Amino acid sequence: MAEAIELLPHGPAEAARTEGLAEAGLAETGLAEMRTGVAGKRRARPPRHLADLDPAGRRAAVAELGQPGYRADQLSRHYFARLTDDPAEMTDLPAGVRAELGGALLPPLLTAERELECDDGTTRKTLWRAFDGAFVESVLMRYPDRVTMCVSSQAGCGMACPFCATGQGGLTRNLSAAEIVTQVFAGARAMAAGAVPGGPGRVSNVVFMGMGEPLANYRNVLDAVRRITEPAPAGLGISQRSVTVSTVGLVPAIRKLAAEGLSVRLAVSLHAPDDELRDELVPVNRRWKTAEVLDAAWDYAAATGRRVSIEYAMIRDINDHAWRADRLASLLAGRLAHVNLIPLNPTPGSKWTASDPAVAAEFLDRLAARGVPVTVRDTRGTQIDGACGQLAASTDESKQRASYRSTPS
Ligand code: SAH
Repeated sequence: MAEAIELLPHGPAEAARTEGLAEAGLAETGLAEMRTGVAGKRRARPPRHLADLDPAGRRAAVAELGQPGYRADQLSRHYFARLTDDPAEMTDLPAGVRAELGGALLPPLLTAERELECDDGTTRKTLWRAFDGAFVESVLMRYPDRVTMCVSSQAGCGMACPFCATGQGGLTRNLSAAEIVTQVFAGARAMAAGAVPGGPGRVSNVVFMGMGEPLANYRNVLDAVRRITEPAPAGLGISQRSVTVSTVGLVPAIRKLAAEGLSVRLAVSLHAPDDELRDELVPVNRRWKTAEVLDAAWDYAAATGRRVSIEYAMIRDINDHAWRADRLASLLAGRLAHVNLIPLNPTPGSKWTASDPAVAAEFLDRLAARGVPVTVRDTRGTQIDGACGQLAASTDESKQRASYRSTPS
C-alpha cells in the first residue's frame, strides 16, 4: 500500500507537485482529506507505448528508429484492428524490424496477476500489475445486448470518498493513456477470441468507473478516450457515445471536457442533494459545491447533447430519506439528466450498508413521480469484489488473498 500523506491546508507548493491533483486544479484547494502517496516524489513513468501516441506521433516514433512511416500504420493495424501485440505474429514486417519496433513501441505494460469470474463467466475481473508493481483492476461485463469494460484511470485514488474501497488507500499514481487502453484491448481480445461465454464478440462500451478519478488524470484519460474511440487502425473504434467518464465533480475539468467536442457520456457521482451531507460523502464537495457541479453538468449536457448520468449510492439512513429524494428531484426536474441509483456495496469494515429495498423503492418512486428518469444500477460482480466501489487492488498480499478467496475456479 502506498504510504499516504495528508495534503497540508497551507502547502500549495507541496501540493502542486502532486501528480494529478495539480492538473485537476486541486492543488490550491488545501483539502486535508485529499490523500496521496506521491507528493513531492518523482515517479518513474510507464514505458512509452503505441497506444500513448496519435498516428502522427507513431510515425515520428518509427522515424526515430530509422524506419519508414508506413511501419507505424502496419503496427497500428496489428494492435488496434487485429488486436495483436506479439511482434512474432507480425509477419508482414521483416524479422529484425519486428523485434526492434515491438521492443520500442509495444512494451508489456500490465501483466494479469489474477483473473476472477462470476455470472457463469460473463463477469470477469482482472487484477493487473504495472511495470512498477502498482496494482489496478478492470472488469468485463457481458450482457445480452452489450459488453462493457469498466476501467481504472489511476492506481488508487486521492478523492477519499469514505464509502469507496479505492478511496481508502490514497493515490499511488496516474495511469498512462496506454495503461488505460491496454485494459480495453485485453477485453476486446478476449471477446474476439471467444474466451467469454456467449461466443466471439466485441467490447461495445467503456466506463471509467474502476479505480481512480479520471478527471484528475485529465490528459492521459483524454488520450485514452481518443485511442479507444478513433476508428481502426488509429484506435479501437468504440463509439464515443458508448464511453462514460465518471467524476466526483471536478468542475474546471468538466468544463474543459465539455469544450473538447466529444460526445462521451458524463456521469457525476452526486450521492447527496445537499452540501452538508455531500461534503462528507464526496469530500471534494468542500471545494466545488453541489450547485456548481450541477451547473457544469448542465453546461456539459448543452454542449454535447448528452444526458448526464447522476450517480447516487443508496446508503441506509444516510442519504436515502424521502426529503432528499424530493430535494434531488427539484435539482434535476426538467434537466437533461438520468439518475442511477446504486445499492451501496459495503466495503470491509464500513459502518454503512445498502438502503432497505422498500426505502430505495420509495426514493425511486419520488423521483419518477417528478418526471426524473431513474433506474437502479445492476451490481454485477459483487461476489468477486468487482462491483462499484469495491475495486481496491492492494499490494498487501494477505488482503489480496482474502479478496480472491471466493474464486470459483
Ligand atoms: N472517481 C470516479 C469514478 C470511479 S467510482 C467517480 O467517483 O465517479 C464509480 C462509481 O462507483 C462512482 O459513482 C462511485 O461513487 C461509486 N461507488 C464507489 N464506491 C461505491 C460503493 N461502495 N458502493 C456503491 N457505489 C460506489
